[in-house]
Amino acid sequence: MILSDVINGWSNTLFPDPLIEKLATERANICAQCPFLMLKNVCGKCGCPIIAKVRSLNSHCPMSKWKAVREYKDKETRERWLERVDKSKITLNL
Ligand code: SF4
Repeated sequence: MILSDVINGWSNTLFPDPLIEKLATERANICAQCPFLMLKNVCGKCGCPIIAKVRSLNSHCPMSKWKAVREYKDKETRERWLERVDKSKITLNL
């Protein structure tokens, strides 16, 4: 997961948006059934905390159980979601 995806995930965790919460719930329900889920909140494949990973719009499941928004085939849906990524993007001066 790249830094902007990490920031997007934690930003969406700290400042919940109803539509993103719906997506996060769908993803988290898949993770809850996954044998790689560790300690109820860590992905055993990538080591990411599930709470933020499922809210990071451009993150994906390393086992292809759920997709990143940019992988959505429907252009209109994909662009609507990506607008939300841009709104929550934070620029870091590193
Ligand atoms: S992100 Fe994928 S591999 Fe990781 S716990 Fe969720 S479903 Fe399993």
